[in-house]
Amino acid sequence: MSIALYGVPISGGIAIGRAHLLQQSMDDVPHYEINEEDVDGEIKRFENAIKETRRQLEQLRTNIPENAPTELGAFISLHLMLLNDANIVRDPTELIKNQKINAEWALRLQTDKLSEQFDSIEDAYLHERKNDMLQVVERVFKNLRGQDTDPSSLQNDIFDDDTILIAADLSPADTMFFKNNRIVAFVTDLGGQTSHTAILGRGMDIPSVISLNHALRLVHEDELVIVDGIDGVLIVQPDEILIKEYRKRAREYRAHQRDLSKLRNTAAMTQDGVAVEILANISSPDDMVAVNKNASDGVGLYRSEFLFMNRDTLPDEEEQYQVYSKIIKKAAGKPVVIRTMDLGADKNPRWFGQIDCPNPALGLTGVRLSLAEPVLFRTQMCAILRAGVHGPVQILWPMISSAFEVRQCLSHLRIAKESLIERNVDFLENIETGIMVETPAAALTINALLKYVDFISIGTNDLIQYTLAVDRGDKAVADFYQPTHPAIIKLLRHIYKVAQRMNKSVSICGEMAGDASFTRLLLGIGFRRLSMQTTNMLSVKEIILSSNIEKLETQILPLLKNDDSERSLELLKKLNIREELTLEAKKEDLSSLPEKK
Ligand code: PEP
Ligand code: MG
Repeated sequence: MSIALYGVPISGGIAIGRAHLLQQSMDDVPHYEINEEDVDGEIKRFENAIKETRRQLEQLRTNIPENAPTELGAFISLHLMLLNDANIVRDPTELIKNQKINAEWALRLQTDKLSEQFDSIEDAYLHERKNDMLQVVERVFKNLRGQDTDPSSLQNDIFDDDTILIAADLSPADTMFFKNNRIVAFVTDLGGQTSHTAILGRGMDIPSVISLNHALRLVHEDELVIVDGIDGVLIVQPDEILIKEYRKRAREYRAHQRDLSKLRNTAAMTQDGVAVEILANISSPDDMVAVNKNASDGVGLYRSEFLFMNRDTLPDEEEQYQVYSKIIKKAAGKPVVIRTMDLGADKNPRWFGQIDCPNPALGLTGVRLSLAEPVLFRTQMCAILRAGVHGPVQILWPMISSAFEVRQCLSHLRIAKESLIERNVDFLENIETGIMVETPAAALTINALLKYVDFISIGTNDLIQYTLAVDRGDKAVADFYQPTHPAIIKLLRHIYKVAQRMNKSVSICGEMAGDASFTRLLLGIGFRRLSMQTTNMLSVKEIILSSNIEKLETQILPLLKNDDSERSLELLKKLNIREELTLEAKKEDLSSLPEKK
């Protein structure tokens, strides 16, 4: 009988294949006592396992394949850093000494203790780091037991053409071999939206689903399974009818992807000739390869805070200048919006120490943290101003909730410029400034805020969270997180209308902008600048090409008037029924679509 498990879809596509289970070696741990005279030898054995683990991780870091996800190096460094943590390295040796037990059992006891501590942490980001700890311990453990921990053991020769990996979790080291491998899909039991597995999974081009909870328990080695990375489903032992159905869906998906790729160099213009800008959200200079490949109109959001994370020390002005310059140069004249560090809440840098805060999302986060640390803030703005000599760059301040904060930001910017003049350093004098609209407070007072800045960018991820009082990372309330809630639609319309009246540029850079099911809604409200992950650009462009603004402006009216969140969904469905060209007709028409200039 077929069984379906539902999880979080991470990477699109459908794969049908044979399961290969990656078992955890921590499940079956030997436990025995040792004699006093064997203690030193046991500690040596443990230290050697740590040493070997470090050697393997360093080797992995120097051999990262070019096409591996961009965050991989940082994640391996994080694992190396965990290997220096006294909790992992020192405490088990104390247990071996004091309790006279074997190294494996000492490591197991310590891991259980650390797991409990992680489980009690409420902060979603820190909670997820438990999996990093477990991955490192797992590797040490395998080395203790003399098992093969070389990830190259995941290489081609052991796999057939249709291998689907089923794992509790996958470490960054495991995932880096996927690209050159025959693995056709992967699923994991663990991992949340902010887990490293999820971040890396998105960067890989194979169907994947995480957070399935029971896959490893329910699936047997070599069993036939289907991974549906579109809807986030794993089907175990599918019957002939299901296989046939999914083969059809897989063919359709591939054909659609092929069609989409033809749109890369097509200008994003609606049926009635309205141009829409498609910009990129990036988190590192490496992302610029995909930005240029997709011929995007520039970078609408560089999340600079990633430069400040996964490290023990702060990047100084020079390092920041080099990174920002690299992005600007790669953008080759197209605009780049650099958001100043949006730290706090779920993005806590280690160098800042533990921020003790009862409610991180409502605490010292975004621009509040920058204003509380003016030296850091001005250092970053000096670096951005200096990088501005290499091309058009704009500064974006996150999590603004009042005009007072904007005035403070401007005053720090002025001081940063003065310090550069004093130091006789070249910089972009007339840099444009903007604010993120992510709080209901900013949305409702947007006319006051817009007087101070040149542009605004709407962060719908946080705007939805704060308007609907729903934690954006909490699975338990995921159903309440509704981008189409009438309150959100009304706020978006209000922001757009005020910006238009004041003749200021407005874009959307939250996930809504990259979700093709909202494209027609956003176009209908009035937005013409959408910033998104590069992987979403073509599907959004496809919708733009088939839309007609004049018609949308009328079709959107019921949604603007509606006050019922359930009805919103029905109205959106209706709005998304395309009256314009079907994809089939468009395929024949592709050659006649205007090229990007
Ligand atoms: C947002 O809140 O929509 C946004 C783009 O910022 P982040 O997701 O980085 O909080
Ligand atoms: Mg945000």
